[in-house]
Amino acid sequence: MSKPTLLLHLCCGPCGAHISEELKADYQVSLFFANSNIDTAEEFAKRLAAAQTLAEYHGLPLVVDDYNHAEWLALVKGWEDESSFAKAMADEPEKGERCRLCYRYRLLKTVDKCAELGGDYFATSLSVSPYKDGEAVVLIGRSLSPKFLERNFSQNNGWQKSIAAAKSLKLYRQNYCGCEFSKRQGKEAFVN
Ligand code: SF4
Repeated sequence: MSKPTLLLHLCCGPCGAHISEELKADYQVSLFFANSNIDTAEEFAKRLAAAQTLAEYHGLPLVVDDYNHAEWLALVKGWEDESSFAKAMADEPEKGERCRLCYRYRLLKTVDKCAELGGDYFATSLSVSPYKDGEAVVLIGRSLSPKFLERNFSQNNGWQKSIAAAKSLKLYRQNYCGCEFSKRQGKEAFVN
């Protein structure tokens, strides 16, 4: 019996490095790079190159969404100003309302692509990183479609396994989440 198909949204190569391998055991996996949150076309290209390396290594198809940062900026309008930014970042770095809007935006793109491709399931690497709100990612995915694979990939040392896999593949590892607002945090500790 053939395995069910799964579209895995990749937020970046490193976060998908371990789970691509893990999911291949049970699903026919295709990768989906949909990240208009990234602040510049140059940075988008660097992260896409890492996703391409990962896809080639695992022999998986990679689908790439159009880059449209203006559309993403319109979505988070109201959360980009200094006061909103400070409010969102005060106690929950990368876990504020702007980030939830951002998760939802990328998951919706994945829902649409999964439907277009006739896929059985979809998932996202967004929950791998401890800098993200994995519970929010799962709640949003669940609310969008019954095809969402409800897994918080940060569990069972998912982050550590991802870093190890990314290092072994020599993938580009960025030092900020993606949007210009995460850059302004100047969070040197964030190394993906
Ligand atoms: S910090 Fe990351 S998750 Fe949050 S809005 Fe920016 S790119 Fe999206």
